[in-house]
Amino acid sequence: MGIVSTIQDALTTESASPSTEPESKSTGAYWCDDCDVRVRDVDVEPEGLDRDDEGTPECPDCGSAMRFERSHADGCAC
Ligand SMILES: [Zn+2]
Repeated sequence: MGIVSTIQDALTTESASPSTEPESKSTGAYWCDDCDVRVRDVDVEPEGLDRDDEGTPECPDCGSAMRFERSHADGCAC
């Protein structure tokens, strides 16, 4: 029991922190409706997407401006 919970502890701690941190900085994701491509705002830079004049990321597949969709995690419905 003791050793299992220790291993589980280590596993959850290691897998939880890298996945939750970018999530908290993300305010939403960019979508290309045509290609069904979704890129989170925090992934635009790492993915190396081009941006148009207004700073809107362009779809890596078709090159058209992507649609921003706020994540529902914000919780503000006003
Ligand atoms: Zn596209």
